[in-house]
This record gives sequence, C-alpha cells and structure tokens, in this order.
Amino acid sequence: MKTSLEQISIAEIVEGFVYNEAEGKGLYGLNGHLTIQPEYQRNYIYGDGKKDVAVIESILAGYPLGLIYFNDAGDGQLEVLDGQQRITSIGRFVTGKFAIKVDGREQTFSSLAPAQQDLIRDNTLLIYTSSGTEAEIKQWFQTINIAGVPLNEQELLNAVYSGPFVTAAKAVFSNSADSRQQKWAAYVKGDPKRQEVLHVALEWLAAAKKTTVSAYMADHRHAPSAKELETYFTSVIDWVSTVFKRIPDKEMRGLEWGRLYETYHLTPYDSRAVDIRVTELRSDPAVHKASGIYEYILGGEKRSELLDIRIFDDKVKRTAYEQQTAQAKEEGTSNCPLCAVGANNNRTRIYTLKEMDADHVTAWSHGGATDATNCEMLCVAHNRSKGNR
Ligand SMILES: [Zn+2]
Repeated sequence: MKTSLEQISIAEIVEGFVYNEAEGKGLYGLNGHLTIQPEYQRNYIYGDGKKDVAVIESILAGYPLGLIYFNDAGDGQLEVLDGQQRITSIGRFVTGKFAIKVDGREQTFSSLAPAQQDLIRDNTLLIYTSSGTEAEIKQWFQTINIAGVPLNEQELLNAVYSGPFVTAAKAVFSNSADSRQQKWAAYVKGDPKRQEVLHVALEWLAAAKKTTVSAYMADHRHAPSAKELETYFTSVIDWVSTVFKRIPDKEMRGLEWGRLYETYHLTPYDSRAVDIRVTELRSDPAVHKASGIYEYILGGEKRSELLDIRIFDDKVKRTAYEQQTAQAKEEGTSNCPLCAVGANNNRTRIYTLKEMDADHVTAWSHGGATDATNCEMLCVAHNRSKGNR
C-alpha cells in the first residue's frame, strides 16, 4: 500500500463542489476528481448550524482542521475516507448554503470581505492519501482510527515540511541525550520524542515574529540549520532562570514563557527580591493559583486576578458569623452590621450563615490578613452592593 501526505488548498478542494440537498450529501470536489461521500460513508451530520459554522470559524481563526484521509481509487479518482463532514461544511459555505456571524453580523461567503474570502480559499488542508486493495485500505483505516496513535500537530508539520531545517531542529529539540533537555523540562511541558518541545520553541519564535508555526517552517524548510530557533528558545529559558533564581517550582512548567519574555525581558528585576516574593506568595493561603505568581511579579504585582485570591475559608467565615450573631442577639440588632444601622425591617433580622457573605475589612492587595480579624460577614445584598463600589 502506498501513502503520501500533501497540502491541498480549499480553493482546489471546492472546485466543482456539488451538494445534493435532497439526500443531504456532499457529492464531488476537486473538479470532479474527488468523491466526497462514497456509499459506505455515513451521511453528512454537520449541517446543524453549529458544527458546520464551527468549521468555518476555525479556518478564519487560523486553527488547524486536522488530518483528512483520501483513498486513491485509481484513474485519477480520489475518495474521502475521513474528513467528509469538514469538506462538505466548507463546500456548503463557499457555495452560499449557510451563513456565519462575524462581529455580530450574518455573513455568507460572498458577503465576506475579500481578504477573509481569500483566507478561506487559500487555507490548505493536510491530506493523507493511500492506495491499495480494499482489504488493505480497511485494515489501515482501522489502524489509524482505533489502534494507532494519531500523529500530533508537530509530527504532521515535520512530515509536511521535511527537509534540512526539520532535521536540524529535531537534532536540537527532540534529542533526549542533550543535557539541556533536563533544564528545559522544568519550564516546558511535553515529550521531546513526540516533538512537543520543538513545537513550543516554534510557537514562541513564531509569535515573536508575528507569524505562524507552519509559515515559519515553510519559509525555513531548506535552511541548513535551526540556529535562530535554538538561540531564541535558549534566550527565553536563560531569561526565566535568571529572573527566577530558584529550583523551578512545578507550577513554572508549561507557562507561556515566550510571551512573558517578549513582554518583560527589557524590565530589570532584583532576582533576590523576586525570589523572596515568590516564596511569600506561594505560602499565602489566599493565593489559590500558584501558576499566576510569576506573571504577577513580572508585571509589578498589579493584577491580583492572576492569583485567584480567595481570602477566607469556611472555618474563618463560620467563626466570624458566630461571633457577630451572638453579639447581635445580645444587642437585639441584625447580625448584618449594615442592616443593623438601617431604618428598615431588616434592622433586627438574624440571617443564617447561607444568607451572608464574607467581606474583607482591609483588601488583600493592601496587606489585609486572611484570618477572622479581617473578616466581616454581611448579608448577601449588602455584600454585593459593597463589592460593586
Ligand atoms: Zn445587610
């Protein structure tokens, strides 16, 4: 059985696209050379206004549509083995069978701006074509669908853009014998053998150069080395390990260090002070998202939402509630201190714990403590109105 991997543009695929409304089937593409729905395939099920729309939105957003499988039926004829739902959705959109929403407005293919039409038409699909006997094809199809480990995105890209650049890049990034892999693994998630470290390196560099991984690989396909990629990647890692001079915390693994490098590498940091703050924040019980600590510090400790601050745990709340309620009962007032000073029916109301929320007297970002001394229970209505101020 012979197989080949190639990229075919959407413009070519939908050339001569025929859709049979009565049977709900995409019939032909590639100017009559592609049978989209061979008899043994299930019917088109994406025409629900969601899955078909999602296919088009993915293309416009630049997401990969995944691998498509063709069978070479001989005499220049191809059949879709896997991917007919995606191809039919694209064909139906390009031929005006349904609309998508762009910036809140319904748009058919012909009403899209020319640049967006081109984005769709020029987009390429990754096609794996095989030829062989029917038994071989069935066997192979079963393998790729069930037993086989599907190729991941970078493995496919390496296949598509194979050449000196991929060879050189793999020698650096998928070489587990390279002693640097251990250091990299502290900051980058993924299996070097499955090209996942290479993928992260390419993503970082492509983002810095405002391009995409596949465009970068296409441009550098015949480059004799991957020096630029290696230099950029090691610059990012060296920067991280210089700013955060500590044995890397496990939460540092897999962060968007490329983006953080681009944003902050020109800012000076006192690495000793940084280290002390990381340790303090990691042991602060109010910080519920340790992975946000690094960006929080890099950004000058301004965006506490990165840390998912939760000040009071249930025990602290219950303690504050019980103290306030006991005192309120003694004084004959509401256990919500704001209701107690009001001139309405709730002035003497005793709320249950469920009807109240914790309010911090001093905000966490202003040094407020996380214990009962800084916790005041308010009725839900008052807590909400206070929170909105
Ligand atoms: Zn109240």
